[in-house]
Amino acid sequence: PEVVSTLLSVQKRLVSLTVADDTDDDLSRQQEVVTARLAARMLEMLKQLNVPAQYLGPARDLMRRLETASDAEVLEACLEELSGLMRASGGNLEADIQNYLMSLNQQLAYLRSFVDNSDALEQTQRQRNNLLDQTVRQDLSKIHTTVQNTRDINELKQSVNAQLDSLIQAMNAHKASENEHLDALRRERNELIERVIEMERETASFRQQAEDAHVESRTDPLTGMPNRLAFNQAFDEELKRFQRYGEAFSLCVGDLDLFKNINDQYGHLAGDKVLRLTAKVLRQNLREVDFIARFGGEEFVILLPSTSGNDALQAAEKVRTALENSPFNFQGQPVKVTISIGGAEIREDDTLDSLFERADQRMYEAKQAGRNKVVLGD
Ligand code: GH3
Ligand code: MG
Ligand code: MG
Repeated sequence: PEVVSTLLSVQKRLVSLTVADDTDDDLSRQQEVVTARLAARMLEMLKQLNVPAQYLGPARDLMRRLETASDAEVLEACLEELSGLMRASGGNLEADIQNYLMSLNQQLAYLRSFVDNSDALEQTQRQRNNLLDQTVRQDLSKIHTTVQNTRDINELKQSVNAQLDSLIQAMNAHKASENEHLDALRRERNELIERVIEMERETASFRQQAEDAHVESRTDPLTGMPNRLAFNQAFDEELKRFQRYGEAFSLCVGDLDLFKNINDQYGHLAGDKVLRLTAKVLRQNLREVDFIARFGGEEFVILLPSTSGNDALQAAEKVRTALENSPFNFQGQPVKVTISIGGAEIREDDTLDSLFERADQRMYEAKQAGRNKVVLGD
């Protein structure tokens, strides 16, 4: 809210400033530039938000309006919606966004002080204009009186010359102060533009940080694979597709066999290496559209879009044999790595939990049946 009110007052003052002084094209251009850049900043912030599904429509609508925003009134409405969307989006980036808003607020406070300063300069200039006006009137009336009261032509010349000198002096002084005023305005404008450029730089680095954080929060550091959070998101999307278009898909749960033995026998480093190997084998033996994630420990999940239970069985079988046949040596000794996989096809009334539960149950059956097996159904 603080940002919103600051921005609005800046915008309004800029508008009134431009209206009050419509002879100064520089200022009105400057106001347009500031409006457009602020709209662009807001647009970038909006794009960085991880907007929840139910707000995607309003977010898209807001994006369109920001792209064409040209005046303060439009930005006012947009800003309020943007802060609403930010609150709704929450998430890990909340702190980052808050910091960013604080820095944006500082920049806006600076913009406001610039406008206040311009107002003050304006006022001084108006006073100087009045002063010049007065001086000119007084000098002219003195000349008038002199012309009427003087009889001698030389005396008249002298007197008029003196009055003219005083007039020229007043005008020179006025010119000098006007130049000073313009210089001050120019300096302020350059400083303002520098600030806006700085804001753009900060926004770019913030965007990069946000992107990195977004990727990092969805990646398992050991294998570089998507993690559980990323999987949950991918699953939600797949479930929506199924509910809308009836596009069936399958889910497999794989768990390494007797993995504890590998850790106990060869140590955790060997265990970690096996996990990386498994990730690689899974990736190499499945389609690019199949979503593979490390779900935790030595458990992997595979989401197979547009795939029936029957086809998923074949895919899982391929993965199982590939891993069984992957040569893994640790300190010169061959280490057997196998996986048990359970899978299920999505049903009409499934949720993530119910489908996962079925696949997990079948994985357990595969273990019961002697491990290194695939059990799949619909
Ligand atoms: P099962 O065939 O029944 O699945 O037997 P298991 O030994 O694989 O099952 P269990 O759940 O008893 O053991 C899982 C082991 O995985 C225990 C845990 O120490 C190990 N583990 C989990 N995460 C990691 C990891 O990140 N690195 C390593 N090295 N080991 C891990
Ligand atoms: Mg396990
Ligand atoms: Mg296991």
